Order: sequence, then C-alpha cells, then structure tokens
Amino acid sequence: MAIACAGASFLRKLPYALGRLCRSPDVPLQLEFILSTHHLIDGRSKAPPLLGSGIRIDGKGQVKRLIEKDCHLLPIALSIRKPVMGTGNSCCFLLAYGAKLKHHDQTDDFNFTDPFFRVTRFHSLFNKEALVTDPVAFLTRLHYKGVLKSRFPAKWTMKCLSESFRKYIGIETGCWMKKKCDFRKEWLQLRSWQRRAALPILDVVRHMIDAFPRSATPLNMPGLMLLNRPDCFCTKKGFSDWIKLMDLLLPAMQFVVTLSDDAILEFPDNAQKKRLTIPVADRKPVEKRRTRIPRDTILLLDVDSRLPNLALMKLSRYFKEQGRRVILSRKEIYRKRIEKVYASCVFYSPASQKRISKLRDYYGKALILGGSGVDIRARLPREIEELPADYTLYPELKDRAIGFITRGCPFDCPFCIVPIKEGKTHQVSDLDTLLADGLRKLILLDDNILSHPDAGNFLEEMAQRNLQVNFTQTLDFRMLDKEKAQILRRIYCSNLKFTRRVYHFSLNDARNLDHVRRKYQILGFTPRDNVEFICMYGYNTSLAEDVERFRFLRSLPGAYVFVQEYQPIPDGPPADLTHFFDDDADEHINELIGIVFRQNMKSMEKYYRWLSKRYVQAFGKLHDGLIDTIFRYNDRDSKGRYIATMAGTKKKRNRTRYS
Ligand code: SF4
Repeated sequence: MAIACAGASFLRKLPYALGRLCRSPDVPLQLEFILSTHHLIDGRSKAPPLLGSGIRIDGKGQVKRLIEKDCHLLPIALSIRKPVMGTGNSCCFLLAYGAKLKHHDQTDDFNFTDPFFRVTRFHSLFNKEALVTDPVAFLTRLHYKGVLKSRFPAKWTMKCLSESFRKYIGIETGCWMKKKCDFRKEWLQLRSWQRRAALPILDVVRHMIDAFPRSATPLNMPGLMLLNRPDCFCTKKGFSDWIKLMDLLLPAMQFVVTLSDDAILEFPDNAQKKRLTIPVADRKPVEKRRTRIPRDTILLLDVDSRLPNLALMKLSRYFKEQGRRVILSRKEIYRKRIEKVYASCVFYSPASQKRISKLRDYYGKALILGGSGVDIRARLPREIEELPADYTLYPELKDRAIGFITRGCPFDCPFCIVPIKEGKTHQVSDLDTLLADGLRKLILLDDNILSHPDAGNFLEEMAQRNLQVNFTQTLDFRMLDKEKAQILRRIYCSNLKFTRRVYHFSLNDARNLDHVRRKYQILGFTPRDNVEFICMYGYNTSLAEDVERFRFLRSLPGAYVFVQEYQPIPDGPPADLTHFFDDDADEHINELIGIVFRQNMKSMEKYYRWLSKRYVQAFGKLHDGLIDTIFRYNDRDSKGRYIATMAGTKKKRNRTRYS
C-alpha cells in the first residue's frame, strides 16, 4: 500500500533497498493495484473514482511504472493510469509508521527544502532508524502560530490536540493554550509511554497541516494511514484509548493496522465497525451544454480586458439600437455559423496574440478585430464612439460608471501607447454624460487627467458632487500642485471595487525621487492612508535602482507597491537589462527582502520570483535569502521543487522526475 501510494519517482528516495522486496534477484516484483481516489483531492477532478496502476521493482531496486499492456491482474474495464502524485503533497495522502519511532531533536526541517519530503511520511515503516517529527520544535511552532499569532487553522489544531491528549493519554495540557509555554519542559515531564503515544500523533498532525495548507480544518481531510503494531506505542491498558483518540482526531482517515493477538482483543468495537465508503458513482464530468447562438447574433468577444471593455459596450449599444441580438463572450469562443464577431484585444501579450491567431484561423472574414493589442491606431467609427456605453453588457459593474473625461498625455514615454494612440491630452466627455444614470461611483480611465488645463475644475466637480472615483490609470505626480492636491484629498479616491479608500500613482524609475517626495508631502498622507504605487519593472531599471525605488516608497507614510512587468508594445523598445546586476547584487537583494510594506506583499512576491530567475540566469546559483522570502508564507511545499529546478530554469529537464 505504501509503495502504491508513493509514486515511482518518490520511491527512489526511500531509505530502503527496494530490491529486498523481490523473492530473488532475477524475479522482479510486480505490483498491480486499484486506487480509490478522493474526489478533487487525489489528482485532477477528472480522475475516475477507481483507477488501476502498477509498478515493477527489479532485484537492483529499480522502479518502473507499468503501462496498460503490462498489467495482467487488473479488471479489463478499469482505467489504467499513472497515479497523479503531482509536485504538491496532498494527492494520494499516505502516512505509515513502524512499531518503534525515533524523532528529530533540533534537526527537523520544516522548510520543505527537500523536494521529496513526502516520502518522509512513511520512512519509519521501512527503516527503523528513520526520524519522525521533532515534537518540541513542532509544538513550539504550532503554539506560536495558533496561540501567539491566533492564526486559523493552527489555533483550531492546537485546541484539538490539547483536548484529545488530555482526555485520552492523560497528558496535562493546561498551559498549551496559554501565551507562555515551554514545550521542552512539557515534553520532558511526560511519562515515557505518553511520549511514545504522542509522537506518531504529532507527526501525523504536522504532515496533515503541511499537506492541506488551505484547509481550515486540516485534520478532517481524508487519507490513508498504515500502522505496523500501534499497540507498541502505548501500554496495554491505554491502547484502546489511543485508537479512540486517532479515530476522533482524524475522522476521514482510513486506517490499516497490524496488531498482536492481545491488542486485537483491546481494539475498540466502534472503531472496528466503521467502514470507509468506496465511491461507486460514475463521476463522469457533466458536459457543459453548448447554447445555440442564433445566426443573426452579433458576437462580441472580450479577449483579455481586466476592466469592462468600453469599446465593446459602445458596439453593443450600436447594434442593439439596430435591433440586433448581441452576446458577449470572454477570451475565446468558437461557434459555427456566426455572421460577425467583433473581438477587442487590449494587451500585446503572447497569450493574447495566440488567442487572436486562433480566432483569425477559425472565423476568417467574419472576425473584426480591434483594440490596442492589435492596432494602436485603430478607432471606433465616430458615430459609435459618441454613443453611450451599454452597461447591460457587464452586469458586474452594478452601480459603477466607467469612462473617460480626457484622453491623451503630453509626455512621450517610449514604452507607452498613449502618445501614439491618443495624442496630447484633450477632453472627450464630462461628468454629466458619464453619470447620466445618477451613478455616484466612477471608474475613470483617463490616461493623465491631471495634465489637462481644466484638471482643477474636473476634480472640484467630483469633490462637490461627492463622487467616489477610481483613478485606475494612476495620477501623475508631476502635474500635481498644492491646489489640485487639496481638492484631490476631498475626493473619495477608491479601489476598483469601491470597498476602501485608495489613491493610485505610478513610479516607473528611480529618477527625481526628491521631487516625488515633495509632491507626496503636499498631499499630507498618513500611515492610515492607502496609497498604491504601480511600479513597472523589467524595462530599463537596474536592481540597485529598483531597490532604491522600493526603499523610497517604504519611507512614505501609507505607500505600498503593486508591481507590473514591462510588456513591450508593438514596435516599442525591447527591455534593456544588460546592466541590471552590478557587483553588489547580493547586498541589494539582502536589502530588498528587508523592505516590507504593510500591505500587498503578494505583489512584491511576483518581483521576487522574476528577480530570482534572473539571478539564476546571471550567476548560475540561487539566492537563499530571496528563496526563503518567496516561500515564507505561501506555497511552502513547493520550495524544494523550486530549488531543485533552479527557480524553474530547469523545468523541462526535470518534468519527468517530478511527475
Ligand atoms: S506619462 Fe503615463 S500616459 Fe503619459 S506617456 Fe508616460 S506612461 Fe504614458
């Protein structure tokens, strides 16, 4: 069972000479087995409830996965597959323990640096020298997260543990939920049988938390546990309670145990009677029913917008006024007999270009393409541009209006399409038109509204009308004076969802930071404000400049970053990163990872990952501090794999090893 659930590639890391399993060196061991999968947890959601699989182990301990034609014992109708072990650690979740356990003492690695850590869950079944979880270190960590930091699910898990240990193993856990608890002292105070009884349970809990990090109640997750003589974990009298504890603590776990004759008599009846229900229902994925689209329908296709697409909203109005039926679809859709497809593509990204090429091949002349991702000079015909937007196309907008008061910008940044597409700043609409339906929340798409000579008046009107405004394209510090700053502070500047007050600015390089600071000061922000700076990276700034930028922003009260990687526009300048690293790269990275913003660090993680990859490409090694930072809070179980694949730079070569 352990071998079946381990996965061929992981088995190679088992501290055991697998060849010993063969009857003789010349006769390989062939294992064919049926796995009953836990829906949505074991492998992909499409995995059948029962699947067959097999492996062959030769006398030298070499492991080979069996393909369908090599399986002779499995039912013919059964789907034969390679069990999907994945690179995570929840799939085919298995724990297995030998009769005697030894534990780590200050040597345990809780950082997932070993990509094959999942095999450590059943080391002790094969090798009695294998070490299980360090109980003191684990309890100290769990206590820190659950009791001191009050984080769920650590708190819940700690409570379950302390209650069940007290009730079933007689451990005095009174101070476990208190702020101060010395677990080394607590552990040493236990009787020897209590330590034996607690040790496998702590190891189980540790692995379940690691395997199901997104579950609020990880101990309730399903899995399989093999126990070789668990009666050795406790006294004869205490064995029944130990089993009851396991049954209660791990309600969805399937147990397979070997016992002494005496222990069989002590095994609690209730636990023995319980059965795991093997799924029988055919979990054929429900086929999505394709809705028929009438032939005369106009299909509007939003290829990649992150915001509701204003051009499509206007096209929708135009066709509806002509009595045509209009439907909107996202990304890509392929339907026969469609008369006209109007697709809007905003970004010149590889993904969008691929989608466009597929759409072109499928629809041919029926496809009319527009948007900055296709042609930055293309415009809607004037009679359509001047129409009000059809808000029914994006019902998710709810009570939010969207549009431009001005378009264009007086500057000429080479990486930006605005100067080419829109020219100098000019007014195209007004608040009365945009808010015709009496809406009070406005997503403003203006490229650089502050650069318009009437910017002060626009802002004043917003303030006086008590509007909530999301300046989604950010505000330009250079255009800000004292008067505009004061008006801006009277406006409820908001995030896109209008759930909280947020000011949006951008900072694409490290030039003129003193000037930016002066402008920032006239806005009078405090640490309680939310001031988001969109920071482009990967264009022409060096690492030193990036760090300088982040350090500067960290010094501004209320400021935090949202990073965006540079995406070249058609015929735009390519990224120039030839001097990205200098001789002090390590020092810069050490400083960078010490710059912690009080919110949105998930966005910084994107920059860390990008930087980490570039570092590997430049220096042929990983930066340990950077990696620790990337995996400190999220995706911790992927760390070992990330290290083994050198930040994903060796992905292809390793794919077979990890899948
Ligand atoms: S200031 Fe902003 S909108 Fe204007 S050209 Fe530069 S990046 Fe584009």
